[in-house]
Amino acid sequence: EHADESEAVREAILEAADRIEEKRTYLTDLDSAIGDADHGANMARGFGAVAERVEGMDDADPAEIVKTVGTTIISEVGGAAGPLYGGSIMSASTALADGVTAETTVAFAEAYLEKLTDRGGARVGDKTMVDALTPAVHTYKKSIEIDGLPPVEALAKAVDAAERGVAYTVPLRARKGRASYLDWRSVGHQDPGATSTLILAEAILDVAVE
Ligand code: ADP
Ligand code: MG
Ligand code: MG
Repeated sequence: EHADESEAVREAILEAADRIEEKRTYLTDLDSAIGDADHGANMARGFGAVAERVEGMDDADPAEIVKTVGTTIISEVGGAAGPLYGGSIMSASTALADGVTAETTVAFAEAYLEKLTDRGGARVGDKTMVDALTPAVHTYKKSIEIDGLPPVEALAKAVDAAERGVAYTVPLRARKGRASYLDWRSVGHQDPGATSTLILAEAILDVAVE
């Protein structure tokens, strides 16, 4: 059951891990401007461990695989972003219990956003990953439920929305996380977590397009 879907999910996760490794220095550079210069290292450590775990999950269902991504990130990554990514992925994974469809992926995206904002308390405009994630999730849902687009096209629109969300973080003053300690001095810098959110979405899209 769900064998093709599981394989596609594992491919997307491995692609995400590769991209994060490629962008490690870039993410750390962004975090050095308004944080503590560890976002690239944190994400690469987490996704490196994720790739090792997921590679061996031949017989697992999509929900189990995605749950493992969350629990692995929780156990490997400290700081602000690790528990937010890991905990939200873990909780949202149950939305994929019936497989990977337009409907279940919308439910996953919404559950992920809801958990992340519940846990982190950030809202749009606080200069965090929420600024990339919120427009991406809303665009994905609307593209499927209102515009009737196939999931891959909806995901492409969501990635565009995430990209605009990342750009939107630049002029903002940070109100959550370490960057908020800098107050107005955070203005003019791109948020690292919003950027890693975009990188992950791009990786999933590129595998989905194939
Ligand atoms: P730390 O700040 O603990 O070193 P990271 O550098 O790995 O952790 O992650 C920093 C990123 O975490 C920020 O760029 C921001 O996007 C995100 N972040 C921090 N606090 C929050 C929060 N409360 N809600 C959502 N995202 C947050
Ligand atoms: Mg940091
Ligand atoms: Mg840190």
